[in-house]
Amino acid sequence: MSGRVVRPEQCPDTSVEVLQRRLERERGARLEAEAIAERATRELYDTVQQLTRSTRLAELLGEVAVRANEASSVEEAMRTVLDSVCHYTGWPVGHALIRSADDPDTLVSLGVWRLPETGEFAALRAASEPQVFRSGWGLPGHTMRLGRPVWIADLLTEPLFRRQEAAGRCGLVSAFALPILVRNETHGVLEFFSAIAQQPDAELIRVAGFVGVQLGRVLERQQAEDRLRRLALYDSLTGLPNRLLLMDRLQSTLSRAWRLGARVDLLYLDVDDFKTINDSLGHTAGDGLLVAFAARLQQALHDCVGLAVADSTVARVEGDEFAVILEDCPDPRAVATRLEELLSRPLTLADGEAFLSVSVGSAHASDADRHTTGESLVARAHLAMDEAKRKGKGHFETFEPRLYERAHRRHQLGEELHRAVVAREFEIAYQPVARLADDRHIGAEALVRWRHPRTGLVLPGDFIARAEETGLIVTIGSWVLEQACRQAAAWRATEPEFTIAVNVSGRQLREGSFPDMVRAALADAGLPPQNLCLEMTESILMERDDAGIAMLCELRNEGVHLAIDDFGTGYSSLSALRRLPADQLKIDRSFVSSLPEDDDAGTIAWAVVRLGHTLGMSVLAEGVETVQQRKALLGFGCDHAQGWLFGRPMPAAELGQALVQAAGR
Ligand code: C2E
Ligand code: MG
Ligand code: MG
Repeated sequence: MSGRVVRPEQCPDTSVEVLQRRLERERGARLEAEAIAERATRELYDTVQQLTRSTRLAELLGEVAVRANEASSVEEAMRTVLDSVCHYTGWPVGHALIRSADDPDTLVSLGVWRLPETGEFAALRAASEPQVFRSGWGLPGHTMRLGRPVWIADLLTEPLFRRQEAAGRCGLVSAFALPILVRNETHGVLEFFSAIAQQPDAELIRVAGFVGVQLGRVLERQQAEDRLRRLALYDSLTGLPNRLLLMDRLQSTLSRAWRLGARVDLLYLDVDDFKTINDSLGHTAGDGLLVAFAARLQQALHDCVGLAVADSTVARVEGDEFAVILEDCPDPRAVATRLEELLSRPLTLADGEAFLSVSVGSAHASDADRHTTGESLVARAHLAMDEAKRKGKGHFETFEPRLYERAHRRHQLGEELHRAVVAREFEIAYQPVARLADDRHIGAEALVRWRHPRTGLVLPGDFIARAEETGLIVTIGSWVLEQACRQAAAWRATEPEFTIAVNVSGRQLREGSFPDMVRAALADAGLPPQNLCLEMTESILMERDDAGIAMLCELRNEGVHLAIDDFGTGYSSLSALRRLPADQLKIDRSFVSSLPEDDDAGTIAWAVVRLGHTLGMSVLAEGVETVQQRKALLGFGCDHAQGWLFGRPMPAAELGQALVQAAGR
């Protein structure tokens, strides 16, 4: 370096002026740099602000999604969303509205609010809750119609806002509302109010749109659950509460009754002979009948409210069984009698009229027995109804403890029968059937017996009905058939025309496999079908639909004989008799026992013989105990007879001996 100093006066380009200009330039550059830095700082700040805001908005959305989804009801979901949005915006008031159930084009308050506890916004609440907001009307209606958020910066001057007076009184200035959208349709609206003027906030409006969609999903889920609950609690055919809802209502009615010291009665109704009606009309018509009956029951109960029933519920328990809860009813018997009367009036259906009757059982729970549960009350009323049914059609019975004992015995009998089937405790007694002309044993009836290990011999009258109810008769019946066929095949060696008669119950015929079971028993035993006669009562035959009758006709065409048992005790309908594919009429013992003294019984027996012969059937008289009876029947032209006169039901070996002896004579 040279160390030469340059003075300003020596250098023309470094004059003061130039220096000043340079300094100014430098200051300008510095200022500009500072401004740039400041702008950059501001921009950075704004970005951070915006990011924070966006993060908070994103958090709000996330919170809404989670909390609304966790809510157990629409109300709770709305409340949590109102809370979150108010908390985020700092706005003090939030209100939820929902589409009216009566008119989907209107909104009504859901009664769910976010309000400070001070009560300062009560006027807005009072003006909003009774109001119906038609689509397009007021802030909620407008939001509904648009299907997107609406912002009102100044409530007092905005004409679409209708609750100005109330808002003014509360000091509210701005509002915004968001629609709750389910598949693009507005199903509800949330509105928020601010006491400070607020300009539209594009970001918040955007987020509000998402919140509405999110809530819509919750609402949709809730609506689906409501539908499911309805399906679970109401009977889909009649629309009446089902058993589940009945039990629920019954339980709360009982709790209320205990609190108030009131009484609760339960009526259990069962339509008489519904199964027969259903089978003969067909299931679609049967359903129609049940619907008409349910409507009639509701109407009838409504009419009975005049008999001072405080409250009532009708439910369809199952099939043709209905229940009625009567709360604090002073005279349930009067209600039941009146119901029976109203329900027996003709029901008008699409294709004619139907006449029904009902059997009614009742049970009551009073303050005195607080351990009564809904279940036990239903069980008692059901037992009473069973008792009413046992007495015939259109009866009314009140529950009594003795019905429990009977039910208990029936239950025990069912259990015992199960055990007996497994332990093979059944045997067969054979009662000979004689030809009246020569008293020759031309066949026998197989009659089942139960050799009980403790109580000894049990006759069918004491267990067949229960075996039918439990379905065990199907197993017992097929065993009897198999055994009887085998036995008959053996006896055919002595008496080639020997016919074995086997009793068949309705329950067995309902099994689609019945004809095959018969064929298998015959094949197994090597017995020709002509040597088998199936006995069934008239009512069992009457209950069969066309397919059931066709099934029997098929067996008959194959050679199996069919007999109508206990004739005269059932419908004895002549037109139906022509339809039934029978070969033999068995005159019931009740017409034979008073012969020959009773002229009427004699006339009936004579007429039945004529009737049977006219229809091409043979006629057998049951329960013939005396020579006089035999003579009278022979006089009427009766073909066969069965009874103590010819032989009591006996073990196979005994009858076998009798057959051998007779053949030797
Ligand atoms: P049912 O088919 O009418 O049988 C005739 C009943 O009358 C038998 O009663 C028989 O013992 C009785 N009896 C016969 N002759 C006389 C008589 O001269 N005087 C009197 N007082 N009674 C007589 P049981 O064996 O007690 O059978 C009762 C009913 O049980 C039968 O009536 C039948 O409906 C049913 N039953 C019997 N075995 C079976 C079976 O294997 N399956 C089904 N489903 N029912 C059966
Ligand atoms: Mg019989
Ligand atoms: Mg009989």
